[in-house]
Amino acid sequence: MADRAAKTSDAADAADASHAAHAASDADFVPNADGWVPAARHVPSPNYDARPADLPTDLVVIHNISLPPGQFGTGDIEAFFQNRLDISRDPFYEQIRDVRVSAHFLIARDGALMQFVACTQRAWHAGQSEFLGRPRCNDFSIGIEIEGTDDVPFTAAQYRTAAALVRALRLAYPIDAVAGHSDIAPGRKTDPGPHFDWDRLAKLAQLPPALLPYRA
Ligand SMILES: [Zn+2]
Repeated sequence: MADRAAKTSDAADAADASHAAHAASDADFVPNADGWVPAARHVPSPNYDARPADLPTDLVVIHNISLPPGQFGTGDIEAFFQNRLDISRDPFYEQIRDVRVSAHFLIARDGALMQFVACTQRAWHAGQSEFLGRPRCNDFSIGIEIEGTDDVPFTAAQYRTAAALVRALRLAYPIDAVAGHSDIAPGRKTDPGPHFDWDRLAKLAQLPPALLPYRA
């Protein structure tokens, strides 16, 4: 059963990858000179600052998030990243009322892409972190939040969008690696979690194994 499901999924992915590779809209995922992706809905966040000078942007960090935890499509992630979350909406929000964070991107359950911070700027998404001996991953990374939790599978549409975005980011920046938040902040973070299918992303985004140093 699992094998049959996996084969069906792989075949669908291959068809998607083939289709996406030839779709004119692929170019819309490439960031412009200011670091904004035309295919994304732009939802500007103030939670960023300047990247250090002369440091290449060479890492993509994959996260998951849901607000309230376990609920999808509420609009609260966008509100949270824009510092306008209505904390009366859920008891959990008291814990994050003073937190100021944002990823560059969010991929909703239906695959829709939102962008909060220009790729040229340092978004506050990874916190205390270290990538293969290099601290402060926010300095040199692009953060992609995928709406979800550690407990449920992500959607096919989310993989398609994530793959298109990662492919396009590689055209614009010298991306050397794609890592999970849990890889660069082990013990502190668990996302994107056990349901994130790295092989599926690698296949759809045509990522060579060298770009996935934590998946060897
Ligand atoms: Zn995270």
